[in-house]
Amino acid sequence: MKFTQLRLSGFKSFVEPTELLIKDGLTGIVGPNGCGKSNLVEALTWVMGETSARNMRGGAMDDVIFAGTTSRPARNAAEVTLGLDNNERKAPASYNDSTELDITRRIRRESGSDYRINGKIARARDVQLLFADLATGAHSTAIVSQGRVGALINAKPKDRRHLLEEAAGISGLHSRRHEAELRLRSAETNLERVDDVAEQLE
Ligand code: ATP
Repeated sequence: MKFTQLRLSGFKSFVEPTELLIKDGLTGIVGPNGCGKSNLVEALTWVMGETSARNMRGGAMDDVIFAGTTSRPARNAAEVTLGLDNNERKAPASYNDSTELDITRRIRRESGSDYRINGKIARARDVQLLFADLATGAHSTAIVSQGRVGALINAKPKDRRHLLEEAAGISGLHSRRHEAELRLRSAETNLERVDDVAEQLE
């Protein structure tokens, strides 16, 4: 699915509401050192559900909120919205009544993040799975940050396998299987308890 636009407000150095249209073809972002090019790429991974503050070059997730300068006070919230073109209906069936999908993540200082899909509250997991099924996401192989190639060469085989799974779009299936296994285990425990109670009643 094509990304059509990225809207930011209060995110890192993008304190003012900023809208970037992503047109067909190749998009390049150029600018002097420190102007915010990497911050834009981080906004993309963040809205897709990144959970590691370290991957956002911060100590805590609140560090993505505009921290203020000598002339401007800090903000208490940050918001990023990613627009997706769903004309080809590649989104999961439950979203397929819309030709455009807007994924929004908002964070308030000391209150954590919330997500919306086309304005409706969603879980972080829903957003992460949506992107995982589209073979993209916060850890997508399509996003190559500084130092990533070197890190990949030195990575353990297990970590490299994760990367291949992301690229193949099957990491969402793994996550669903893990959840199903947890539910199964909890059902088994409940069954054992039922057996115990039944025994006591006999
Ligand atoms: P380079 O070309 O050197 O890699 P860049 O264009 O990728 O630079 P970024 O690393 O995206 O630049 O942006 C760095 C700028 O963002 C710095 O000026 C830093 O102070 C600012 N910045 C990062 N986090 C915040 C924040 N929470 N609040 C305000 N400014 C921030």
